[in-house]
Amino acid sequence: TFITVEGPDGAGKTSVLTQLLPQLKQHFNQPVILTREPGGAKISEKIRDVILNPEFTEMDARTEALLYAASRRQHLVEVILPALARDEVVVCDRFVDSSVAYQGGGRQIGEEAVLAMNQFATGGLNPDLTLYLDVPVEVGLARIRQHRQNQFDRLDQETVEFHQRVSAAYQRLLAANPERIIAIDATRELAEVTAECLAVLKAKLPA
Ligand code: C5P
Ligand code: MG
Repeated sequence: TFITVEGPDGAGKTSVLTQLLPQLKQHFNQPVILTREPGGAKISEKIRDVILNPEFTEMDARTEALLYAASRRQHLVEVILPALARDEVVVCDRFVDSSVAYQGGGRQIGEEAVLAMNQFATGGLNPDLTLYLDVPVEVGLARIRQHRQNQFDRLDQETVEFHQRVSAAYQRLLAANPERIIAIDATRELAEVTAECLAVLKAKLPA
């Protein structure tokens, strides 16, 4: 079973997943693993270092999208697919939807093109279920400003319009994939958001 968690910056993916993991382990009979790209795959980590290197200001948007897809491919082959083959439950913090939203929508290189390129990278593997932690752009950015000043300084280089485009692309993904992607109102307090995530997972994915 393959579960992904998505959302804009400041949606609280990491906090929710930390709370959710022990509860998921109780629900499922199989082992549950939590991962995120680059997920400890050595090649993926090297690629991530290139993507995030602040010296590379010349990074082209398509180059960035290709590097994310390459990093994703290696993480998939080394971590996700072997775990799924062992019949484990894999929970991944961000996956293809993030690229469609951030590179396709945010960087405006085309959601269809980014999706097609990622389908090549993943061999067409789709999550069984995706939780979308839904917060308005201003709420997400305000949380980061408050709790993670360092990240906010970096994010600040990206305009509010960039984040609006990311959010709009996510909304299109939701509309296009109503069976797979479930939106959770993530403006509420952490315990409530976590409880709803668990309830959705239990309803959609019986143990
Ligand atoms: O929220 P999280 O810590 O998962 O995000 C890391 C950062 O990487 C985000 O702020 C996002 O801007 C960026 N990112 C991206 N394209 C992706 C995945 C993440 O630009 N495909
Ligand atoms: Mg996070």
